[in-house]
Amino acid sequence: MKNSLGILGGGQLGMFICQAAKKYNIKTTVFSDNKNFSAKEFCDNFLIGSFTDQNLLDKFINSSSFFTIETENIPITVLRKIENKKKVFPSSYIVEIAQNRLKEKKFLNSISGVKTAKFKKIENFSNLESHIKLFGRTGILKSCEMGYDGKGQYSISDKNINNFKNNDLKGYILEEVLDFKKEISVIVCCSKKNTILYPPVENIHKNSVLRESIYPARISYKIKNEALLLAKKIATKLKLQGILAIEMFLMKDDTLLINELAPRPHNSGHWSLDFCKYSQFESLIFSIFSEKLVQPEPTDSCKMINVIGKDYEKKKKIV
Ligand code: ADP
Ligand code: MG
Repeated sequence: MKNSLGILGGGQLGMFICQAAKKYNIKTTVFSDNKNFSAKEFCDNFLIGSFTDQNLLDKFINSSSFFTIETENIPITVLRKIENKKKVFPSSYIVEIAQNRLKEKKFLNSISGVKTAKFKKIENFSNLESHIKLFGRTGILKSCEMGYDGKGQYSISDKNINNFKNNDLKGYILEEVLDFKKEISVIVCCSKKNTILYPPVENIHKNSVLRESIYPARISYKIKNEALLLAKKIATKLKLQGILAIEMFLMKDDTLLINELAPRPHNSGHWSLDFCKYSQFESLIFSIFSEKLVQPEPTDSCKMINVIGKDYEKKKKIV
């Protein structure tokens, strides 16, 4: 099928990708490793099971002409198997970098003019003890893979460092604790024809979970342009085809540090569903099917509030 799209993962982001695809008569097949998933009622077909089940994976590969992801936490071997026959957007090369904090940080710092928080690879407790001294005896220990919403992250100081003595610390990094002014994010989308950027939004996190995104970010024109330039530079270096969200820290001296990359639509871009002519999900579809992208020119300000868990039940009662 020419106009068909396979999506790995069927959560909220997968659901919105399906809705956007439907608008343009593209048939979707969702591969979910979870029985109950948000995209179930919005996709045309679905497969449920382990991504590494060869039989299911073959069926999935045969289902569609192009493929995309709604989470970077997909085994890279699975993406490569798809790429042996079909195209994945963004490519497995990009996902491999973005799904591992160590690879991601090394990649980002290799680009001239791009910087992140200072970091050290951690493999054991003695690494943690020695490296924490470099960052003023505090740091954030982060698992290199599979983390989201602050999961797999620990604030470390003299007070609690000894609690980690018997932990297996292979596959972690230690980051310096940044005293930033604010967090912003930029979404960049590239098709074969052109590149567009969703302008920076300001992100408010509580306990490492995104709670609000405010458009436009309350930053100067100069910082806005710097953020857009950084996003474009990173996308170019990655030879991006598809969509990529870039989280940034605005420091007290007005420099921008890159926090992390998400090679998929992003929660902080949900405002584009209501305030842009084409949402981040539609732009992703256009990029996959090599259409010309339309630069979003939102004219109004807005705010996205992330309604989570029990709060959602309360909202439903009000509506
Ligand atoms: P996740 O994959 O869970 O989103 P992040 O690395 O983006 O992981 O961390 C989640 C949040 O924790 C960030 O949005 C930020 O608020 C805070 N945070 C992460 N790294 C640092 C740091 N080095 N210094 C201060 N705060 C940080
Ligand atoms: Mg993050």
